[in-house]
Amino acid sequence: MKHIVQFSGGKDSTCMLLMMLERNMPVDEIIFCDTGKEFPAMYDHIAKVEQYIGRKITVLKPEKSFDYYFADHIKTKGKNIHRKGYGWACMWMRWCTRLLKQDPTNKYLKNQGNYTQYIGIAADEPKRHKNITKNTVHPLFDWGITEKQALQYCYDQGFYWGGLYEHFRRVSCWCCPL
Ligand code: SF4
Repeated sequence: MKHIVQFSGGKDSTCMLLMMLERNMPVDEIIFCDTGKEFPAMYDHIAKVEQYIGRKITVLKPEKSFDYYFADHIKTKGKNIHRKGYGWACMWMRWCTRLLKQDPTNKYLKNQGNYTQYIGIAADEPKRHKNITKNTVHPLFDWGITEKQALQYCYDQGFYWGGLYEHFRRVSCWCCPL
């Protein structure tokens, strides 16, 4: 059984990873989906985490870039067929989450045999926890760690993201319209 940590670089997955290692839990692989649109401070953070834990993080890349899907991709089926580019994501069409994060993750996990996936869902995110799948674990939820506590824990360990969390509640692509 392989133990795979899904790492976004944000406060929750950072806290989860550090706490798992602190508790000597098995971590075989740490995976990060790179949309190519993270804040520079996030890429710095990921490098800092690698240095702190003394391990490499596996970077998963999408088949094509964000810019390609955004502006050049030609739709071949469904609504707006032949339209060029998906444009900005919206709540009912988060093409980027699917193509740049979910698809590369699923493709990678398909070749891992038996695995448990660890995802940083905090204790105060019950709605996200509700959809848990059978080989997925939400350690922060199980430990009762809230989002606020996760951020504080990371700050206490010296992770600051160049101050990103002073401006945003969640941090992901710098150009995210959501
Ligand atoms: S953070 Fe926003 S722009 Fe980036 S993949 Fe998610 S929904 Fe798309």
